[in-house]
Amino acid sequence: MPTHDQRRTKIIATLGPATESKEMLVRLIQAGVAIFRLNMAHATHEWTRTVIRRIRAASQEVGQEVAIMMDIKGPEIRTGDVAAPIELQPGEVFDFTVKPGATRTQAEEVRSVDVNYRDLVKDISVGDTVLVDNGLIRLEVLEKNDTRIRCRVLTPGQLASRRHINLPGVKVNLPAFTEKDRADALLGLEEGIDYIAQSFVREVADIELVRNFLRVRHASVRIIAKIEDQSAIENLDEIVQASDALMIARGDLGIECPFEELPIIQRQAVRSCLAHGRPVIIATHILESMIEQPMPTRAEVTDAANAVFEQADCVMLSGETTVGRHPLECVKTLDTISRRIEQVMAEDFAEPMFFTEERMKLFRSAIVMANEMPGSALVAFTRQGSTAFGLAALRPARAPILAFTNSRETLRQLHLARAVEPIFLQFHAEPDQTIGSAINHLQASGRIAPGARLIVVSDIISHDRRVPSIQLRILPS
Ligand code: PGA
Ligand code: MN
Repeated sequence: MPTHDQRRTKIIATLGPATESKEMLVRLIQAGVAIFRLNMAHATHEWTRTVIRRIRAASQEVGQEVAIMMDIKGPEIRTGDVAAPIELQPGEVFDFTVKPGATRTQAEEVRSVDVNYRDLVKDISVGDTVLVDNGLIRLEVLEKNDTRIRCRVLTPGQLASRRHINLPGVKVNLPAFTEKDRADALLGLEEGIDYIAQSFVREVADIELVRNFLRVRHASVRIIAKIEDQSAIENLDEIVQASDALMIARGDLGIECPFEELPIIQRQAVRSCLAHGRPVIIATHILESMIEQPMPTRAEVTDAANAVFEQADCVMLSGETTVGRHPLECVKTLDTISRRIEQVMAEDFAEPMFFTEERMKLFRSAIVMANEMPGSALVAFTRQGSTAFGLAALRPARAPILAFTNSRETLRQLHLARAVEPIFLQFHAEPDQTIGSAINHLQASGRIAPGARLIVVSDIISHDRRVPSIQLRILPS
């Protein structure tokens, strides 16, 4: 594959009924999906186990490794079961009860539904807004006692069983890493997932819970912090630094924050990730209309293009690939948009911002060399991935990052990073030999042509010590 053929922006597809078959997985990998996401809010353990194994099998069949992201549900408030959907009327007074089976007086004519979170009555205040079913139904809190909150319906709608509740601006005291999350994560570790996406991260301490959970189990799974509410935005920079990658979860964010804030938050979060060298994922509603339609709306094309312009590492598909009618077309649409926008960006490339870490300054020099040599490629050697993630964070204008690693896990994890093409290689004790065999590999696979200019970032041995280096290697033409 010639270097200009690379798509730099990575595509994540969430799996569901529309995509869980082996045949579909094969086609999605072939179409360029780099990461599959399993949404544990909906998945059983049996399904999860089966699908993870199926992904690995499909990936083997195609001869292309992919990463698996397990998205754990985190703290979440939901309504209970209703016998039949409740048609909420404008202005109706309606109760959310926190003690199931609490006896009600005969005279009560107020309709109600249970909520799975007892302390709701403590956390919420009169005047707060309650949003149900992805913000479709809106209520205002009128009064509360220790068994229920009483609300008035502002925006009516149909309330079915087990709907998601959002409380914009309310600090909810639910645990950040629940029993269910732990059980899900354990299963994930058993089956060899590559990433855990942690839902509703509100502060650094939330991430530390997962970090410790992984540490004591000696798991090198990386943590993606999903920012979905106002607390996360308040603690944005610290969260970015404490995580391995960030997901801008626009579904919940767009409910928890006024919608006009969303583009501002997105931009701010992407910038924070770029400044701290963390990969960033833009998620939710990116091609929403394609759940039904075979073509994106013009607005969606522009939104996806914007994500590429902002230099996000990944764009993510949710409903489009879980239950959508056109999952493959969605992947192809993102592929087409990304490639086109990346081409324009490379044409009007401007210098990026500054970076703070020492090591990043070395990488930065490599990027400057690559940017000044059209047609060149960056070649990195990385065990745990940090060199390749570091180079990717600096956003080379055109050069692909050919990242050699001797770890299968690192290889899969590197799929998350912009412009990185991970390649497996046994390392030799002598770095020079490793570089030699990498170049042989690139030549043999036709990935680079005679005369290619390679900017090699690796350690060299000098007086028995490993020294980081940048080398320019020009192959004979
Ligand atoms: P979810 O997260 O799909 O797990 O809700 C993404 C989002 O809220 O955008
Ligand atoms: Mn969410």
